[in-house]
Amino acid sequence: MPASRTIVVEEITVDKVLNTFAHQDGWFWAKYSASPYLGCQYACAYCFLRQDGYGLNVGNERTVGMDDTFSQYLRVKTNAHLVLDKELQDVERDVIGVGDYQPVESTFMLSRKMLEVCRTHEFPVIIIAKSPLVVRDIDVIREISRRSWACVVFSIGSHQSAGYREFFEPFASSVESRFLAMKKCSEAGIHTGTALMPVLPFITDSRENLEAVIRKTKESGGRFVVAGGLALSDAQAESFYKSLERYNKNFVDRYKTLYQGRFSPQDNSWASLGRTVKGLCETHGLDYRIKRFVPDSPLSMNKRLAELLFLRVYEMELNEEPEAEIQKCRELAWRIDEMREPVQCLPDETAVMHEAVEEIMKRVRFGNKEFCIA
Ligand code: SF4
Repeated sequence: MPASRTIVVEEITVDKVLNTFAHQDGWFWAKYSASPYLGCQYACAYCFLRQDGYGLNVGNERTVGMDDTFSQYLRVKTNAHLVLDKELQDVERDVIGVGDYQPVESTFMLSRKMLEVCRTHEFPVIIIAKSPLVVRDIDVIREISRRSWACVVFSIGSHQSAGYREFFEPFASSVESRFLAMKKCSEAGIHTGTALMPVLPFITDSRENLEAVIRKTKESGGRFVVAGGLALSDAQAESFYKSLERYNKNFVDRYKTLYQGRFSPQDNSWASLGRTVKGLCETHGLDYRIKRFVPDSPLSMNKRLAELLFLRVYEMELNEEPEAEIQKCRELAWRIDEMREPVQCLPDETAVMHEAVEEIMKRVRFGNKEFCIA
């Protein structure tokens, strides 16, 4: 564990905490997200929130002399739960991404209070955690799970902390403690599993590491492993390259050749990674996608159809089908997901859309099973 650092905490109040996504991503199924904190003490070098667009690297007179504003200057939305309570009264019930279990949560307990609000309004939740602190709130999460749906996803990129965490997740809890927390969630009857991301080329992408994470997930009661590669962009890329240089300076040139200054690797490694993880998950009896929770409503059929189409999109990506075809399928998924009338009530002239969906559905499988929308 590196030496402790100065952390500046600023308490703020906000008018808005709920973010509504423009489109489903087909991965975590959240329609909304709500976070009580800005910045993250865990300081992961690869964190996508370091990208310039999130505005979390900005400093002021309180951050002078800090090495890493993103992880040392935290803003705490002290009224986040109260604002969320109001906002949830005006939006349709759907999955919300909540829960931020960095150390400051022990003091402010805002993630817990926000979960309590979700429980009151019966909103399903998905929590992506890198800390066993989430176990503190198992009572609330379990109740949400009983009333609607809850899923706790542990972010785990390597099967062990040694030789990895100190470079890429210097202040995060150990990998071992995350698997233990997963076991506790599973024992409490909560749907749980692993986000094996980002997988780092040449570092955590070996079949041995991927399989070890999958095996440990299974042993810990996890039900799925979803995997994704490393994207690199602006300030986040700078942060990552600094850590990479400390890890092994010979890797810097290899990454530069692989990424060529772009967001994603300039080869087929993401698809190949997805295929490997899919195969290993099937071998070990885990899902490689998270099953979508769909609340009962007149639009349930639309959501299920969209889920199938998103699965199809993923399969097409793994098969490296032409991007134009993948995008066409993705747009069809969004279109159906965002329709305001049930697909079963569409007039006859849209039958062509039904046919297209049926065609795609024939080719979709989920794990080893045929997927049924009935
Ligand atoms: S724990 Fe998550 S949010 Fe925090 S720095 Fe790491 S990746 Fe980013």
